Formats: sequence, structure tokens, C-alpha cells
Amino acid sequence: MMSRFDAAAQLLGVTEEMYYILKVPARQVMVGLPITMDNGSIKVFEGHRVIHSTILGPSKGGIRLDPAVTLDEVRALAAWMTWKCAVVDIPYGGAKGGIACNPREMSAGEIERLIRAYTVAMLDVFGPDRDIPAPDMGTGPREMAWLMDEYSKSRGMTINGVVTGKPLVLGGSLGRTEATGRGVTVAALSAMDKLRMNPYRSSAAVQGFGNVGSFAAELLHERGVTVMAVSDVTGGYYNDRGIDIGAALAYRNANKGTLEGFNGAERITNEELLALPVDVLVPAAKEDVITAENADSIQAKMIVEGANGPTSASADDIINEKGIMVVPDILANAGGVTVSYFEWVQNRIGYKWTLDRINRRADRNMKDAFDRVFETSQKYKVSMRLAAYIVAIDKVASTYKYRGGY
Ligand code: NAD
Repeated sequence: MMSRFDAAAQLLGVTEEMYYILKVPARQVMVGLPITMDNGSIKVFEGHRVIHSTILGPSKGGIRLDPAVTLDEVRALAAWMTWKCAVVDIPYGGAKGGIACNPREMSAGEIERLIRAYTVAMLDVFGPDRDIPAPDMGTGPREMAWLMDEYSKSRGMTINGVVTGKPLVLGGSLGRTEATGRGVTVAALSAMDKLRMNPYRSSAAVQGFGNVGSFAAELLHERGVTVMAVSDVTGGYYNDRGIDIGAALAYRNANKGTLEGFNGAERITNEELLALPVDVLVPAAKEDVITAENADSIQAKMIVEGANGPTSASADDIINEKGIMVVPDILANAGGVTVSYFEWVQNRIGYKWTLDRINRRADRNMKDAFDRVFETSQKYKVSMRLAAYIVAIDKVASTYKYRGGY
């Protein structure tokens, strides 16, 4: 995160003072959470919340439950959220939260007590006008419902705008589940348009068949792109005439969430998927899959980053030299935070938008953001990744200049 931030800040000519204003998190909170476990023992968990910036508005970012959570990691992820919100022009700063624990080894009751304790510990941090959490690794609508309930109780009224990613009945938004994959598709189609590629004559490979990857594959297929390969943690599935995405989805849903045994394709590895001769490569599984070691083998004309950080910084130069267009994560996967923002807006006005309205607005927002980044990349003659950071840093820095400091 920092190496790309540094390169963009240098190109923009950000002053040293502004560099530190943008670099140092605004607030970092660490809490100890003693939780009574089901066997009666008390275990203390460490929780963090880092607010990187509130220059553009209340801070926004997910809460992750994972044994590897550290303050350093949460700090990097919080900054990432600042740039992501700025690049798609939504009025939020960036934040991230985490609790070091292993949710797979905890009962629902233990997780509920942990989330409620974390919420109480963060009562003066969270707030619909201050800091708005969301799901991340290890959390989902269930945890967001507990958070909203605990926060609301402490205030003596229902305040559903304190968190996004809630179940629909609690004020969640239509379209949120598919929003990130949908945004990835809008980004891919916008990039294809710039490169004068006809979707009906183009092919794609999608790594990861979870929330982001499966919706991206389905929507790309709907828009005429031949999806030649998909993959998940069990490996890759390739068919040069195109994967039947409907059949793959039905198979995964009936097969404990994986494609293991799917017979509409030939088996390849995840590594081989990255090197396929397709037009569009969508890494939508995990971080650091494209590295200096394998970047040279990539044949795609463009990479649309559905996952966060799928390309390591060391691979950037190789990919740029090969003339591959990269639609970077902070732009390509920002469809999710955009619809989270719509959820918050609906909660605040006490009204529910139709799916059609949400999709139209989200698509327009993604397309506008793509165009802004593309123009910036042309103006500065830099990659789309650096251009996205330039757009984001410029927006936050110029807002700060108007607001001023002490
Ligand atoms: P998910 O858990 O729903 O799906 C992950 C998919 O990746 C699964 O199909 C899994 O089998 C596969 N996978 C796991 N390890 C793999 C490996 N080593 N090789 C190949 N495939 C592997 O997760 P998701 O919500 O789709 O998130 C995917 C990525 O997108 C993550 O980087 C996440 O941070 C990012 N992201 C998600 C959202 C969102 O709204 N869900 C928003 C922005 C960014």
C-alpha cells in the first residue's frame, strides 16, 4: 500500500507536510475484551479499530475476525479504505477493525458476546456520523445485526445507519450481495470499451468463485464475454468453448460451496489459470497471486482486480512493461462499498430503494470513477493503478486544504 501511495504522492508533488497528514492514522484504538466462553472460563481478546482519515466524511471499513489480526495490518487496511472511498467519490474516510480470534473454533454465542463487547468498547468510536463498520473476513450480516442492536440499545433507539451489510429486514440494501462482482464487471466492460474490445468476441478467466468471483463470472457471461476458466480453492476449471456459468453456480451451491468434481470443464491449476491466453483476467480470490515470479507468463490484455491486493508491488513493473492494462483493486472492487454507502443513505432517509435504482446508480458511479482514473492515467502517462492513487490522494489533499488544520 505504502509503495504505491509514495509513488503517487511524488508524482502529484504532495508536500512533505501533506504527506504526513495523509499517512498517519487519525485515531487508533486498542481494547481488551474479556469474554465468558461456553465452558465457563474467561478469555481475553484483543480488538482494534483504526480510523485512518475523516477528511472526506465519517470513516468506513469492515471488521475482521481472524487469528492473524494485528494493529499493523488493520492500519494498512484502514488507509486502503480511505483511497478506495475517495477514488469512487463517496463521502467517507477510511477505517478498519479487527479482533484476533478464530471464529471457526467459537460457538455462535461466543461470537455474539465478543461482537457485543467490542461494540460497547467502541461506543465513542462508532456512530452513523462518525465511523461506520461493515463485514470483512469472518463477519457477515449476523454480526452486523448484533452490532446494530447493541449500539441501538446504548442510545435508547434504533440506529441502523451505524453499520452496513445488515440483513435486509434490519435495513440492509438490495443489491449489496452482488455489488462487488457487478462493479468488477462494469470496470471490465469500461476498460474493454477503451481498448476497443468487443465483449462478444472476448474471453475471460476468473480466479475465485466466491462472492466476488462468481457474480463477476455470471455478469461477464451475461454481457457476452466467454468465460473460459473459473477456479476456487480446489483448483481451476477450463473449457475453451466457455464454462456454463449457470451450471457451475448450481454445482457449487449443491456441493458445499466448492467446484470440486464439476465436470463441465477440464482440470487446471490456479497457477495455470493466471497464464491462460484470455483477454480479461479477473483475480478475485486472495492477495499476492500475481508476483514477480509469474507476471511474465500472463497473456491477458487486461487484469481487473476483484480481490484486494492480488498483484504484489514487485509485479507492477513487469506487467506495465508488457502493456497489460490493470484496473486496480481500489477502483475495480469498490462496487461493494458504493452500495454500502447507498445502504447508509437509505437508512438515513428511512426509505428503501428498488434494486433497479441501486444498480443504475452503482453502475453509473463505477463508470464515472473508471473514466476519471482513465483520464488521469492519460494525463500523467502512468498506469491505471498509479492514476487511481493520484485521483484519491488529490481529492483528500484538496479537501484538507479547504477544511484546514490547527
Ligand atoms: P469468498 O470467501 O466469498 O470467496 C473466495 C473464493 O476464493 C472462494 O471461491 C475460495 O474457494 C477461493 N479461494 C480461496 N483460496 C484460494 C486459493 N488459494 N486459490 C484460488 N482460489 C482460492 O470471498 P469474497 O468476498 O469473494 O472475496 C474475495 C476477494 O475480494 C478478497 O480479496 C476480498 O478482500 C475481496 N473483496 C471482497 C468484497 C466483497 O464485497 N465481498 C469487496 C471488496 C473486496
